Amino acid sequence: MSTMDKDVERVLFSEEDIHGIVQRLGKQISEDYAGEGKDLVLIAVLRGAVVFMGDLMRAIDVPLAIDFMAVSSYGDKAKSSGIVRIIKDLDVDIKGRDVLIVEDILDSGLTLKYLMKNLSARHPASLEVAAFLWKDIEGKQAAVNPKYVGAHCPDAFVVGYGLDFAEKYRNLPYVGVLKPEVYS
Ligand code: 5GP
Repeated sequence: MSTMDKDVERVLFSEEDIHGIVQRLGKQISEDYAGEGKDLVLIAVLRGAVVFMGDLMRAIDVPLAIDFMAVSSYGDKAKSSGIVRIIKDLDVDIKGRDVLIVEDILDSGLTLKYLMKNLSARHPASLEVAAFLWKDIEGKQAAVNPKYVGAHCPDAFVVGYGLDFAEKYRNLPYVGVLKPEVYS
C-alpha cells in the first residue's frame, strides 16, 4: 500500500493486467520484426513512456536498439496543440532502419503526428507506433492510428505506470483514475 493510493479513485489496469498486455505486444512485435534485414529501433518519448519502454523492450526477443526523444508542446499543457518543440533529439541515425515509436498514451495524437512527420523525413525503412493506452473515444478522430495498442482507455485523466499529474504518480505500478479533488 502506497501513500499515493489514497489519491486514486479506481484502478483501471492492475500490475497483472499490465504484464499480460505487455507480453502480448512483445510477442506480436517480435513476430513482425523477426528475420534477416530487420533493424529495429525503439524510440520512447520522455518521460511518460519510460516505464512502458523498460517492460516492452524485455518482452521483445529480437535484436533491437533504443533511443529517446524529449518534446514540449506549446501552449496549454492540458490540451495538445500539435505544435511541438524538440528538447532532446535522437542520438542514433534512423536512416534505413525499422523505427517503432513507444508512447504511453495517445489522446488527440497531435504530438505523435508531428513526431512521425519529423522522423519520416529522416528516411527510416519503416515507421510504426506502439501505444500502451489509446483514448479512442467514439466520435473523436485521432491524428495517428497506432499499429500496436495495449488497451483502450476511457475518457478520464489517468496516472501511474509512467503517467504523471504534475510530475507525481509516475511510479505507481498500476494505471488509475485520479480523484477529482486532487487536481481541482
Ligand atoms: P495527444 O497529443 O495525443 O493529445 O497527447 C498525448 C500526451 O498527453 C501523452 O503523451 C501524455 O503525456 C498526455 N496525456 C494525455 N492523456 C493523459 C492522461 O489521461 N493522463 C496523463 N497523465 N497524461 C495524459
